[in-house]
Amino acid sequence: MDRGRFAPTPSGSMHLGNAMTALLAWLQMRRLGGAMVLRIEDLDLARSRPFWRDQILTDLRWLGLDWDEGPDCGGPFAPYLQSERQERYRHALQTLHQAGLLYPCYCSRKDLQSIGRAPHGLIAEGPAYPGTCADLTDQEQRVRQRLKSPALRFRLPDTDGEVDDALCGAVQYPARHGGDFVVQRADGVISYQLAVVVDDAAMDITHVLRGRDLLDSTWRQVHLYKALGLRSPAFAHSPLVTSTDGARLSKSDGSRSLSALRQSGVQSETIIGALAAACGLIDRPEATSPVDLIHSFSLEKIKQNNAIVTSIPSDGGHPLPL
Ligand code: GLU
Repeated sequence: MDRGRFAPTPSGSMHLGNAMTALLAWLQMRRLGGAMVLRIEDLDLARSRPFWRDQILTDLRWLGLDWDEGPDCGGPFAPYLQSERQERYRHALQTLHQAGLLYPCYCSRKDLQSIGRAPHGLIAEGPAYPGTCADLTDQEQRVRQRLKSPALRFRLPDTDGEVDDALCGAVQYPARHGGDFVVQRADGVISYQLAVVVDDAAMDITHVLRGRDLLDSTWRQVHLYKALGLRSPAFAHSPLVTSTDGARLSKSDGSRSLSALRQSGVQSETIIGALAAACGLIDRPEATSPVDLIHSFSLEKIKQNNAIVTSIPSDGGHPLPL
């Protein structure tokens, strides 16, 4: 059985970029006749709020997107809130630890920021880690341990590799791209990279469709799948939604949030039409519903470059600039 998922972090209002990902993941699964899972990635309790979680569910329903399993309706792989799945992540950490693939990292935020300023130090998600703590002796670890509790990093192998992506093709990565990455933060919070792999495997997800900003993460995640002896799903990384000036939409920008658009009287079909046209599924931004797009959906139609949404026509006929 094909199984897809939408896995939002409830740290703010959904914007058009999140809506695009949700729409495409949903269409992919509905076209395949598979099951759609909604998983809430609320591990970082300092950033996640039940308010945002509820709003995401409301926004998705308003858009006309549904799910077969999720925090509200349960399902065979419950719970669907990551905050309630901690045991599974600890177990995976243990497996990685026993395989000798983890090491404690005592670098402070400041240390890491100065790495970020070094030339060529950046990948999409922040500074590439140079391996400062990779080869500390037991003695050195003990000394540092007294001053600071460590994060845990996953040791990447020394081999080049690729991510096979249904939308981006075979994307090549040089060995150690991005550097060894954190699987557990110093405050004990499990990282997105580890939790997402553990959950996608445990929930039997066969297709992961998400935004292209996460492609570098996928390179990291394929190593975790291997190290944990898990089968990785098929990946597709979809275009990012930008406004005309090329700016990516962000959760902190409330004016472009779905709920703000809804409150200003915009119809959900208008948004679906604008998104579908921006990514190449339909020729013109005509109002449509997700259900009406299922029949003609195919990944081949989705264009490679960013999906530019210039404005959303409001009910009064005045386009709302984005
Ligand atoms: N929770 C992530 C986010 O909201 C997405 C995770 C994923 O789709 O793998 O950006």
